[in-house]
Amino acid sequence: IELGDEGDESDWSVRPPVVTVMGHVDHGKTKLLDAIRDANVIEGEAGGITQHIGAYQVATQVDGEERKITFIDTPGHEAFTAMRARGSQSSDLAVLVVAADDGVMPQTIEALNHAKAAGVPIVVAINKIDKPEADPTKIRGQLTEYGVIPEEYGGDTMFVEISAKSRINIEGLLEAVVLTADASLDLQANASQDAQGIVIEAHLDRGRGPVATILVQRGTLRVGESIVAGPAHGRVRAMIDEYGHEITEATPSRPAMVLGLSAVPGAGQSFLVVEDDRMARQIAEKREARERAAQQAKRRVRRTLEDFMASMEKGESQELNLILKGDVSGSVEALEDALAKIDVGDEVGIRVIDRGVGAITETNVDLAAASDAIIIGFNVRPQGKATEMADREGVEIRYYSVIYQAIEEIEAALKGMLKPEYEERTLGKAEIRAIFRSSKAGNIAGCMVTEGLIRRNAKVRVLRDGAVAADNLDLASLRREKDDAAEVREGFECGLVLKNFQDIKEGDVIEAFEMVEIPRG
Ligand code: GDP
Repeated sequence: IELGDEGDESDWSVRPPVVTVMGHVDHGKTKLLDAIRDANVIEGEAGGITQHIGAYQVATQVDGEERKITFIDTPGHEAFTAMRARGSQSSDLAVLVVAADDGVMPQTIEALNHAKAAGVPIVVAINKIDKPEADPTKIRGQLTEYGVIPEEYGGDTMFVEISAKSRINIEGLLEAVVLTADASLDLQANASQDAQGIVIEAHLDRGRGPVATILVQRGTLRVGESIVAGPAHGRVRAMIDEYGHEITEATPSRPAMVLGLSAVPGAGQSFLVVEDDRMARQIAEKREARERAAQQAKRRVRRTLEDFMASMEKGESQELNLILKGDVSGSVEALEDALAKIDVGDEVGIRVIDRGVGAITETNVDLAAASDAIIIGFNVRPQGKATEMADREGVEIRYYSVIYQAIEEIEAALKGMLKPEYEERTLGKAEIRAIFRSSKAGNIAGCMVTEGLIRRNAKVRVLRDGAVAADNLDLASLRREKDDAAEVREGFECGLVLKNFQDIKEGDVIEAFEMVEIPRG
């Protein structure tokens, strides 16, 4: 079982951080990505990074050592949230770009919220310092109000003053990225196993067929290997890097354009290496069917006030996340004040994760989906494709035009006056193949997922000889190899620890399940 390998440190090495650039429109995200690309002049690479493949890797000197960084080459947070919505994390760290002449703007805060929701550390790039009206001190002050405290004020966020246009201090920014990654992330990967990772972008090329840029997250991908990427499969015919060179292998955190897939996978979908083409096709077909089923299930599992109540009753959730949108800033403030006064006891809280004036946008829906929030619209409506997207993502939008009505409904929901009906849905099963006793963690069950998937936050029961040995348990941890995992799928091994239940035996089956709301009417 793979857990036994944990002690073998020799296969593990530090992998480069994967970084997303976020920030308000026109603050210089695109220019910065260009500047970083151009700053990376490697000897013998006269042309430099010439290919836009969706991500690129650069090298920089930090304390006399060469360090690599991978940048996702899509400015904005669309890619970031699209991938998060699929449950995959694309980035380890975010660079938040703020123009020094403009200051903190709505999308700056939105980007910040996205990074917070994903739990990734940030480095602030104060851009456009070449402009006479630039005021970096103002930016530091503004962000401090949002809880982003600069190191020089005793906080733990690095602020770097740059000019993307005049190419000032780009190296300083790269150094800050490396230092922040070193300080707050443990980026280790095992390069000697089969590759796994995600799709950054993909399209159909006229001459070359489906082309996908993948990011290797663990293991090493080699030309000739069979892979499954989302619903697509195939043998890696060729790999091309950001210099336009053909490469034969891609190690952790390396992006590469892959040729040879049967179809175009979606951004954010995962890929993995399998034994042969036949296996790849089988898994791809299974995956497609499962994805379709999951989409249907997702549509049913709407995150509503009622759901929230039920999850609170089951002790799963103590916080209701809200996004407030109103027609004028006075109404948003009044709503927030009134919400703060709702008294529903100590165990339960309301957290306003974002607020703003104006129509409900797709970005609002994105954030709500990524953080299980409900959107409250006060005298405003959705714009563009926001409604469509909310339906697709299962995000609830509640509309009000009278404050006390909004408050009354939220309070009623919090107090449990609206009770939904639930039914159980099995997620998957895992067999315990070995047990490791750890004085710190308790009994670690080394498992093989034999059906569906095991999810970190799912409920589980222990089945022994066909009978239920323990029911309605939580997981204290779920790991795949060395890393904490949100979920582990069929065909993979994992290590898990049960909360408040140590009496496990080899041969026991762990069954994971979730409670799904039965639609009314
Ligand atoms: P994005 O929307 O965040 O991707 O912003 P862009 O990179 O497209 O930049 C928006 C505008 O700001 C462009 O006209 C850039 O030339 C300009 N710009 C970007 N960085 C700088 C900078 O460091 N200094 C100055 N003066 N202008 C900049």
